Amino acid sequence: MGVLKNFIAGEWVDGADTIRSVNPSDTNDVVAECAAASARQVADAAASARVAFRQWSETTTQMRSDLLTTIANELLNRKEELGELIAREEGKTRAEGIGEMTRASQVFRFFAGEVVRFGGEKLPSVRPNIDIEITRGPVGVVGIITPWNFPVAIPAWKIAPALAFGNTVVFKPSEITPAMGWHLAEIIGRAGGPPGLVNLVNGAGPIVGQAVVENADAVSFTGSVPTGRQIAQHAIQRMIRLQCEMGGKNPLVVLDDADLDTAVNCAVDGAFFQTGQRCTASSRLIVTEGIHDRFVAGVVDRLKKLVIDHSLKPGTNVGPAVDRRQLDKDLRYIEIGRREGAAMKLEGSVLKRDTPGYYIGPTLFVDTNNRMQINREEMFGPIAAVIRAGDYEEALAIANDTEYGLSAGICTTSRKYARHFQANAQSGLVMVNLPTAGLDYHVPFGGTKASSYGPREQGRYAEEFYTIVKTSYVSV
Ligand code: NAD
Repeated sequence: MGVLKNFIAGEWVDGADTIRSVNPSDTNDVVAECAAASARQVADAAASARVAFRQWSETTTQMRSDLLTTIANELLNRKEELGELIAREEGKTRAEGIGEMTRASQVFRFFAGEVVRFGGEKLPSVRPNIDIEITRGPVGVVGIITPWNFPVAIPAWKIAPALAFGNTVVFKPSEITPAMGWHLAEIIGRAGGPPGLVNLVNGAGPIVGQAVVENADAVSFTGSVPTGRQIAQHAIQRMIRLQCEMGGKNPLVVLDDADLDTAVNCAVDGAFFQTGQRCTASSRLIVTEGIHDRFVAGVVDRLKKLVIDHSLKPGTNVGPAVDRRQLDKDLRYIEIGRREGAAMKLEGSVLKRDTPGYYIGPTLFVDTNNRMQINREEMFGPIAAVIRAGDYEEALAIANDTEYGLSAGICTTSRKYARHFQANAQSGLVMVNLPTAGLDYHVPFGGTKASSYGPREQGRYAEEFYTIVKTSYVSV
């Protein structure tokens, strides 16, 4: 296949360096070598996006809709091939990879429809003989910086609305999943539009990501809180528009009156599927006394049956950690939990499989409290901690006692508690009798506190970030 190049001003160009992505299920398998851009090339990419903007922002909504539909169709038609490649590069299962491709296609299709429905407002002035029009226009060149855990879906839910509303893009994928970023850019590049409409710049965050922030008119970032803080400092210096979606420490509250199977399913799916590598993963399981022991026994029973193996092997439920660094981080948190005095109902150790990979079993801590480091920090691995609560009020207080606020779930058959939790959980997403992870594509997504900064992503709400409101007064 050769080195996968960067895409700048409609041309495939070599980089200053190369990055290599390796299959976490089989470290002998090199997925791709990708060109890493220089800071200079990022500036060139932004300049070409600025030229393309003049043309793209003037195109008809039908042309934009057609382009997004072409991309949606190809993503769907190639969902098996590219879903498998996601599994190879990121380590999620093949089914999860195909699901991600389907989701990315749905997002492009949604915005293909949204772009033709989108309009402004006309209001009477409070003064005579004046009309007021409120319209929305594009922002300009949007820098898109994304993480590795949804290497196609997250870029899709940023690039699709950016293009729909008339912006152009400089896209920097995670250096851990550069091949998936390349395939998405390649599909978009062939779909049409002016050269420079979407530019791909692969490479390291502190060089390429930083250069994106220095050259774009707006930045949409998804990743960790520390990176988000650094980006925010630079973006605010430049007074550019910024949207950050970051980590979580998501609680799942389980009350005595919960349906036990539902609660166990929510915990196992929410905390352990996709190797716990989801921003919405429920790593804190807050459980009231009456159901505690049955719940823990049910979760342990289910976890023991999970098949952890090569992401492409039929029957695998959970793939490996994404890389050595994440595996080491998981092991470090298991050790921290042990040192903090948490009891271990199930200890996840490094697993050997037919191929050399970053395999790790699930860990379930019990008898933990919310002050422990394992309950304060995002671990991003197949590790969850159970915290006992006396009653609903205590469970809610523990759920909210965190610097994060992305997703919060409750398992209960009580309408009263479910409604109270919906209103009082300090999070952008609330799940009732559902796992904390797992979302629709047509509704807003985002969090509170340190989990999010700026307007919501996805659905109709995406226009808040990708457009600028203009108010015109017209004498009539
Ligand atoms: P990360 O913060 O390490 O990297 C994210 C992206 O930022 C990468 O492309 C990286 O190269 C880039 N980057 C790093 N340093 C940079 C800098 N100084 N300037 C500009 N760009 C820089 O995150 P990750 O490890 O790739 O992803 C995991 C994190 O993402 C977790 O914290 C997870 O919760 C979060 N996440 C959040 C959401 C959400 O929507 N809230 C979704 C998925 C993942």
